[in-house]
Amino acid sequence: MREPVLVPRLQPFTSTIFAEMTALAVRHEAVNLGQGFPDTDGPAGMLEAAKNALFGGANQYPPGPGRPELRAAIARHRLRYGTAYDPDTEILVTAGATEAIAASLIALTQAGDEVIVIEPYYDSYAAAVAMAGAERRVVGLVERDGRFALDVESLRAAVTDRTRAILINSPHNPTGTVFTRAELEAVAALCVTHDLIAITDEVYEHLVFDDAEHLPLATLPGMRERTVSISSAGKTFNCTGWKIGWVCASPELVAAVKAAKQFITFVSGGPLQPAVAHALDHELPWAEDLRTSLQDKRDRLAAGLADAGFAVRPTAGTYFVCVDVRPLGFEDAAELAWELPERVGVAAVPVKVFTDHPEEWKHLLRFAFCKRNEVIDEAVTRLRKLR
Ligand code: PMP
Ligand code: GLN
Repeated sequence: MREPVLVPRLQPFTSTIFAEMTALAVRHEAVNLGQGFPDTDGPAGMLEAAKNALFGGANQYPPGPGRPELRAAIARHRLRYGTAYDPDTEILVTAGATEAIAASLIALTQAGDEVIVIEPYYDSYAAAVAMAGAERRVVGLVERDGRFALDVESLRAAVTDRTRAILINSPHNPTGTVFTRAELEAVAALCVTHDLIAITDEVYEHLVFDDAEHLPLATLPGMRERTVSISSAGKTFNCTGWKIGWVCASPELVAAVKAAKQFITFVSGGPLQPAVAHALDHELPWAEDLRTSLQDKRDRLAAGLADAGFAVRPTAGTYFVCVDVRPLGFEDAAELAWELPERVGVAAVPVKVFTDHPEEWKHLLRFAFCKRNEVIDEAVTRLRKLR
């Protein structure tokens, strides 16, 4: 066989930090605050609905766009933001947000196009842009006024005549920032002026804390028709392994994304789709309780990390809190992350792996707080040994 077998555009993507860190955590019996997944189940009513579907014969291919009751429930859910989508032509069910993002990029961008991504970026974005054959242009968040903020000037400067799309994730993984209305208005203005497509990753839409509010970009003037709004059930209902996601967009954009999606997986998660429909219709109060409990967990972990000697950055949403490792005498959070499971028995994820500018981000380490309180407390106890 000719070597190397992997095509050059995918060679940077042979492993994921989440799989690597989870494997390391398992090897050293470390508390895993690396990969973001909850350690408790979602609402019992949703699990019951899945069981009923599984034993009720819903085990063959669902319709290509997704089961009608799920598309209808997604449309009803989206109305909470004031935007109406036609479940038949404007909604597509996908294998998680990950497939929705990849299919959108593959369908809407190609070689010669540039896609703007905000740094640090969720790891699948770079790989998906590469699969599409397009090029990523990164715009870094900046620490300003006690939060990670969008640098609107840099964003404006990143737009070229080749820019086709911009990928916006809010609430933002890994920083936990939630974009403000002013930031989103600036993104919208650029999209309208330069006729760009916006792809939004809103998987943490329900997980916002204090007085932060999730504002979908598609609700801003001029954006409804040019935005591919993406979300999924995993974070809202503690079912990250189900991989039920969705796209809401204009009929033209949904048809385009479907053209790619239907030849990637065609369909997935048949018996889980009615359960997610149930959850969207009936379990949002459960998700509200989850939000409150995650806010407490954020505070619990943040206080523990500060006590252990890290400089903790604020987080307004998601599962994650970032810390600066320099007060403990470390320079590079990635070096620390690799040693941490063996040295103290905790796993975390270095932020620099989500960037094209590792030097600028190397002091930050991301911890997940979507864990039981005793797990968080155990991690903190172990981390105190770093001093
Ligand atoms: N986007 C972001 C920002 C995420 O953190 C995650 C992961 N958990 C995903 C997308 C993937 O979502 P899904 O599991 O629905 O594919
Ligand atoms: N989204 C989760 C995180 O950011 C992990 C998802 C994955 O393992 N691919 O930690």
